[in-house]
Amino acid sequence: MSSDATESSLQSPVVECDTASSSDESSVTKSVEKTARDQFYTGIKITDQQKSWEATCQICKSKVRGTVGVTSNYNRHIKDCHPNYYESWQEQLQAIGLRNQKKITETMDVRKPKSSSGSIYSATHPRQVELQKSIVEDLIIELGLPLSLVEREGFNNFMLHVDSKFSTISRRTLSRSILPNLYTKMLDGLKRFCSKATFISMTLDL
Ligand SMILES: [Zn+2]
Repeated sequence: MSSDATESSLQSPVVECDTASSSDESSVTKSVEKTARDQFYTGIKITDQQKSWEATCQICKSKVRGTVGVTSNYNRHIKDCHPNYYESWQEQLQAIGLRNQKKITETMDVRKPKSSSGSIYSATHPRQVELQKSIVEDLIIELGLPLSLVEREGFNNFMLHVDSKFSTISRRTLSRSILPNLYTKMLDGLKRFCSKATFISMTLDL
């Protein structure tokens, strides 16, 4: 709604202008934004004591909500409900070359060989294992940082300074193998511990 208002207020003074200047203007208003949020939403606000956000889809006017710091819902709604808009937006982004900057995985692929000049640790290298273990146990589990951390540019920059041969972990590996493996290991340990017990005293809070 608000963007309609600004567009019309922009154009109203130049209604009598020639076509050349108005075509200039339309190219300005049709600028391609780098994020789905900026491209497709209005009325973005933080609700629920800074924990959630809410925004209005400019296409269907429905409300989209999500957790603060997590923006995937912006993309998901457009992708699911307005695939045509989503695709043309992605094409436009690609055309201007912004997409390369946006795609974190691509940035990392480019970064790896450049920074470490070809030599990075193998998955089983002790140093790689040590650093990976520390990221998972100290940052993800102990500090409770989000899994997306490992794909953030700042974090990978930091790791580059810590050890330029460190091979970045993908969020997929983290959620599909590293964490489930840790969970199974922990569960087995607990089972072994419990099986050795002679007595078990339990307290249930009802
Ligand atoms: Zn919509």
